[in-house]
Amino acid sequence: MKNLLSLVVLAFLLNGCTSNSIIGRSQLNLVSDNDLQAMAFAQYREFLNTNPVVPANNSNTEMVKRVGNRIAVAVKQYYKDNGMPNALDNYNWEFNLINKNEVNAWCMPGGKVVVYTGILAVTQTEAALAIVLGHEITHAVVGHGKERMSQEMVAQGLGSLAGAALGTNTQAANIFNSVYGVSAEYGALLPNSRKQELEADHFGLIFAAAAGYDPRVAIDFWTRMANLGNGQKPPAFLSDHPSDAQRIQKIKDLMPEAMKYYHPR
Ligand SMILES: [Zn+2]
Repeated sequence: MKNLLSLVVLAFLLNGCTSNSIIGRSQLNLVSDNDLQAMAFAQYREFLNTNPVVPANNSNTEMVKRVGNRIAVAVKQYYKDNGMPNALDNYNWEFNLINKNEVNAWCMPGGKVVVYTGILAVTQTEAALAIVLGHEITHAVVGHGKERMSQEMVAQGLGSLAGAALGTNTQAANIFNSVYGVSAEYGALLPNSRKQELEADHFGLIFAAAAGYDPRVAIDFWTRMANLGNGQKPPAFLSDHPSDAQRIQKIKDLMPEAMKYYHPR
């Protein structure tokens, strides 16, 4: 029975893998981008309707939107320079600040972004906010959530689902919410893998730099994150993540590459 199960899993892996030329590896992919974005747009709308959105005329909201839009332009340009000018055409970027004392931010597929006011005390500067948004936006554009969602669908015996079969499936909706961390409850979150975290750090630095933000601020920012007490660290930055020291060392290693993209404005 166990062998049969492995065979079924293997069959999914063989049929449902796509190769991602940006991160240079193949990913399990059992959900289409269109279906996933439809779910994301609905969940994002629901989230904004039930959480305290900071009004648009606030200077922090303006900063979140400014940084987000500059990174979105840089990401689009990066994909264009790498032979994929249309890769993000179905993205419909939106950046909102939520008045909540939680050290957190996330980006859903399709470009639906939330920053919590609690993380602004740690970012402290616009450039460090760009580091956070570069990281979260990378998770979305390289399909990390889709990858984790697909893996969890296999683990829970769901297999591939599309269209209405996906949209109306409560089990799939629960997996979506645990993948995207809409609820910050620790137990409910399905974290990124270490590999996904390092990829998000890598391309996040490049995107922040290409948007005109000094990537070197990442070292101080992650040091401030490391110094937060565990009680203050949000789940999205805890479980299965690289250790703080390992992350900071990797970021130092990546800095020469990121600096090639940095042109101060
Ligand atoms: Zn991450």
